[in-house]
Amino acid sequence: MEADRKLRVGIMGGTFDPIHHGHLILAECAYEQYQLDHILFLPSGNPPHKQYRPDGASGRDRMNMVALAIADNPHFSLEADEMERSGYTYTYETLQVLQHNHPDTEYFFIIGADSLMAFDTWKYPEIICRYCTLLTAVRDDLPFDAMQRKAEELKRSYGAKILFLDSPELDISSTALRSRFRNNRTLRYYVPDCVLEYIEQNGLYKDTQNTKE
Ligand code: NAP
Repeated sequence: MEADRKLRVGIMGGTFDPIHHGHLILAECAYEQYQLDHILFLPSGNPPHKQYRPDGASGRDRMNMVALAIADNPHFSLEADEMERSGYTYTYETLQVLQHNHPDTEYFFIIGADSLMAFDTWKYPEIICRYCTLLTAVRDDLPFDAMQRKAEELKRSYGAKILFLDSPELDISSTALRSRFRNNRTLRYYVPDCVLEYIEQNGLYKDTQNTKE
């Protein structure tokens, strides 16, 4: 690596309730397409935008599932920073801490199409944009020109740097997986086997009692 080249690190943030192959493929596509050196998986601690998950797993279980899912990939690692903070966890704060601790790193925050369209509802988007480039997946059911318009708007408003990702579309969502499991349908091939084993062994997602910490 050239001496003056900054480390290029992707951040795959998520509620990961549970982590599934859609998340993993998105992160791997970002790694490959933008020559990233490493990807940090960042489970949200107490996400303000996902408060109502009556069937959700605890922060510890979500983090354990992420750790299992990424264990066999040498360029993926777990970033537990948001798990260790109290109160709501906001992306702008996480990026401030990371950039402060690693000034020689350039960060790329990986998001799906829905997150791009809702990005201006996030807290302090201008601070997020100062500290990272947004790597955004595109989706067939969302016209690309609408995403480009949104990207232009975010560039004007917040100086956002936005790049698009070419990733295969997998119609998988964590909400749908929780519902499938509760209804005794299999999660096999949707989540890594080790994650499915963890869900079964720990009795997750079987009832709608709130188990969040
Ligand atoms: P999530 O539901 O676990 O999803 C994580 C990411 O994976 C999202 O960007 C999502 O895109 C994408 N994704 C999910 N399923 C996918 C699939 N099948 N194929 C491709 N991509 C897929 O996590 P989240 O709750 O959206 O949170 C994402 C990050 O944004 C977290 O780090 C969270 O803290 C942050 N966030 C911060 C704020 C704030 O600071 N105020 C507000 C909102 C979110 P989609 O967006 O398209 O679903």
